[in-house]
Amino acid sequence: MTDRYNVESFNLDHTQVAAPYIRVADVKELNGETITKFDLRFTQPNERFIPTDALHSLEHLLAENSRNHSDDVVDLSPMGCRTGFYLIMHGKKSPEEVARLITRTLKDILEADQVPGCSPVHCGNYRDHDLEGAKRWARRFLSVAEEDLLKVFRSDYPEERLHHLPDWPRRSDV
Ligand SMILES: [Zn+2]
Repeated sequence: MTDRYNVESFNLDHTQVAAPYIRVADVKELNGETITKFDLRFTQPNERFIPTDALHSLEHLLAENSRNHSDDVVDLSPMGCRTGFYLIMHGKKSPEEVARLITRTLKDILEADQVPGCSPVHCGNYRDHDLEGAKRWARRFLSVAEEDLLKVFRSDYPEERLHHLPDWPRRSDV
């Protein structure tokens, strides 16, 4: 029998997912209020990792700009494995709603001319940023059709589609 972990994502079989995708990671009831936690996976686990500077800029840009489109954003934070982000929303939210929110936010990022909060006053490592890198990862996520973002597992794709999933940005691109 497999051991179960307290942390939901430790129970996810990372070898079976097909990134990029948007997945409900947890739904919690807290004193009558619901919060929904999403797994926003940008890169294939154990294959490709977002460099720390681009990840850091994406975090600032997503955290700031997503709140222009929704009052229900509670938190957006990078995964320590550097393959994506966790997004916590107030209320019971669907992956479709979050796909729309993230799509609008990533389009804002493509237009950004600076990283918000990128200064020693507002950030704990303000030199570790890469706006152009963040845009490349945003562009890649946006290149995936919404219906495919909602497919989480390799088994959600017909066999022939698995070979046509969007390729990762080349090493020189990231
Ligand atoms: Zn920062």
